[in-house]
Amino acid sequence: MSEETRKYQTEVQELLNLVIHSLYSNKDIFLRELIANAADAIDKVRFESLTNPALKAEWQIKIEPDKPRGIIKISDNGIGMTRNELIENIGTIAKSGTREYLASLKKNDSKDIPELIGQFGVGFYSAFMVADKIELLTKRAGSEEKATLWTSKGESSYTVDDADTTEHGTSITIHLKPDCKIYLEDWKIQEIVKKYSDFIEHPIKLISVKKKKDESSAPEDEVINSQKAIWLRPANEITEEEYKQFYGHLSHFETDPLLHIHYSAEGTSEFRALLYIPTKAPFDLLMPEHHKVGVHLYIKRVFITDNCPGLLPDYLRFVKGVVDSSDLPLNISREMLQDNPGIHKINKNLVRKIISELKNLLEKDREKYNSFFNDFGRFIKEGVHSDFQNKDKLTELLLFESIDNPTGKLVSLKEYAGKMPADQKEIYYVSGESRAALEKSPHLEFLRSKKFDILLMTDPIDEWILQSIPDYAGVKLKSVGKGDFELDEKTKSEKEDKTKKAGEEHKTLLEFLKKQLESEIKDVRFSSRLTESPCCLVSGEHDPSIQMEKIFKAMNREMPKMKRILELNPDHPLVESLQGLYNKNAADPKLAEYAELLYDQALLTEGVSLADPVKFSRRIAMLMVDGIKGSLKDENSK
Ligand code: ADP
Repeated sequence: MSEETRKYQTEVQELLNLVIHSLYSNKDIFLRELIANAADAIDKVRFESLTNPALKAEWQIKIEPDKPRGIIKISDNGIGMTRNELIENIGTIAKSGTREYLASLKKNDSKDIPELIGQFGVGFYSAFMVADKIELLTKRAGSEEKATLWTSKGESSYTVDDADTTEHGTSITIHLKPDCKIYLEDWKIQEIVKKYSDFIEHPIKLISVKKKKDESSAPEDEVINSQKAIWLRPANEITEEEYKQFYGHLSHFETDPLLHIHYSAEGTSEFRALLYIPTKAPFDLLMPEHHKVGVHLYIKRVFITDNCPGLLPDYLRFVKGVVDSSDLPLNISREMLQDNPGIHKINKNLVRKIISELKNLLEKDREKYNSFFNDFGRFIKEGVHSDFQNKDKLTELLLFESIDNPTGKLVSLKEYAGKMPADQKEIYYVSGESRAALEKSPHLEFLRSKKFDILLMTDPIDEWILQSIPDYAGVKLKSVGKGDFELDEKTKSEKEDKTKKAGEEHKTLLEFLKKQLESEIKDVRFSSRLTESPCCLVSGEHDPSIQMEKIFKAMNREMPKMKRILELNPDHPLVESLQGLYNKNAADPKLAEYAELLYDQALLTEGVSLADPVKFSRRIAMLMVDGIKGSLKDENSK
């Protein structure tokens, strides 16, 4: 194939622009990224060499600075790339959401660049922070295809051409910008490798030209990383600093981890694990394609994959780290891993450990745990919904806001239950869009009069997960907008007497309203729920809540129309007035209007938008006219 010039995908161009023009000062990371790519490439070919021994070689990464020419070369004898792979890997970014993320980055300043590089896996492009021009020469291991030479100045295009190398692997030649010549210095290269790439298990060799005594010069090579697999060392010999460094090396995050978990499992499954909980959730963790689990699998120190689907459940995809098994077979194919019973055992063990460490954090360091929950609570909730086996333990890890606590202060179900007064029989929660809206919900009136605390659920996912938690430690979790409250005998009989009496007194009115609103509601009744508002809507015990209906609507999903119960407050003067009007003239057309208004009001307090807002406002206007006329009449008759 001949030389061709190709344009970068738009996203790549934008990214390059950001990288090149960023004022980000830590340019050192370009070397970390290229070394990480080289190590990945070696891991891949080493894995292939398990079944194709012809590919075996003395694995190594070389760094060769050339001062006179102002270039630095980073090469590996890894898997290499075919021309098509090269175009696909280096010319495009396949992740969705990239464009939006780039746009948001452009608005912010360049301090997010390193996170961008780490999160996106766009490490290669970081080399353009220091390069005027990059040449990449690569040959795919085990392929008949010729080597390819890729060249770019980081502008809008790059060229690819055939080349003649026969060795497989990749070498990247960077023509350093005039102000980046520091990367030609041995000490600088050593410093960066020590800091970021010390744990890479393949030797990183620095090839430098040394002047001899007789003034002649000769290249020397020196391995500059310790290659120590930190996870295999005893925990008490590892310093905090080393743990942090390894985390940086694994995650490419600039921030320190929130927590590390380092242990070895023995018994049914033998492995060493070093896991990290990050401090902040990366932006793309919620995107469906982010299924690359953050834990690298090794078998007897040989890297197998950083994407082993069954190793951790999806909801723990934020966990980073390494698992090194000593009893899985080395010659297992990646495709077979997921169904391997050994992986399944490791999975169970890891999940149990992670959950217990989180529980520990919740109990011992609440501030840290809160910060974890603010960022990763969603994943725990996902777990409650999806991990049936660990549901109860995960439920213990949940935190919520509650009406008795100031905004931002979170309580666990245990804490809530521990504070329940003797006459409270259920754990109450209310769900909706915002705390401000929920605090005013008419559903809370009676419960507040009893001084019961109420959990506030403002995350749309809360509704889903609550379906999986009907009770906590034997106490029912109860939506304030559903069914009847479980009350102590005395209150209950008082309430019942009152609503029963009201029901009898206003029987004709209830029947009228029910008939009038027949197509919208399934019943009208007096309520023990309200103390101030005139009415509210209540769902059947097993019906989806109004909040759930809203979520479905927002997702454009069909849901059968749910009829609800309209509850009236027996103490509200509106009830008397309506009954009075009804008694005077049951055929008064105003009664029908008022019935509709009552229902619309109930919908509005639930934050549901009205099907016919124009009609509603016309009715309000009519009411105002009546009201004003009334007061004027009062004035005149004075
Ligand atoms: P990431 O490494 O996070 O995927 P990069 O932009 O650094 O992102 O690299 C993109 C892809 O290019 C890699 O996933 C890999 O397939 C390929 N690649 C990069 N460097 C090398 C290399 N030294 N050898 C083989 N393939 C490489």
